[in-house]
Amino acid sequence: MITQCFIALGSNLNSPVQQVQSAVKELAEDRGIVVEKCSSWYLSKPYGPQDQPDFINGVVAIQTELAPLALLDTLQTIEHAHGRTRDQHWGPRTLDLDLLLYGQHTEQCERLSLPHPEMLKRNFVLLPLYELAPELILPGGTALKKFIDQSLNKDIEKLQQY
Ligand code: AMP
Repeated sequence: MITQCFIALGSNLNSPVQQVQSAVKELAEDRGIVVEKCSSWYLSKPYGPQDQPDFINGVVAIQTELAPLALLDTLQTIEHAHGRTRDQHWGPRTLDLDLLLYGQHTEQCERLSLPHPEMLKRNFVLLPLYELAPELILPGGTALKKFIDQSLNKDIEKLQQY
């Protein structure tokens, strides 16, 4: 079965725009994944510790036959290939890939929570996701647009040049 999924990308180290752009390319090269569309890139203030560079964030829509945990494995393999280490919570990172939504599937296990539990709290996720899928209905039946308002535009800038 083919499922549409949304993946959030973020980076604030080692040429962040290149990190996220090459991650999209690597997703597209995976045999189990078709990249459907990619949002604009957004420059956002760090979440958590402020003594770190601003982040580049975006969201991609994919189609996949991979099961949720197999998709998470693929995301973590790509993170590792970008030198991602897990040091400080919410600290600087070369590449962060979060599985936001796997169709309408919900799951709670040790390695995976779906939908991603933090996605509705983060403007750097909500704005690019809304750009890609303004009519999206979340698992549970609520429309994504219910979570979109002017307050989300604080501390974030949509980049025009990429
Ligand atoms: P982070 O530091 O934000 O990249 O968190 C990574 C950890 O969150 C990993 O141990 C994952 O197994 C776990 N995790 C749980 N749910 C998700 C999800 N929906 N997407 C990505 N990682 C997840």
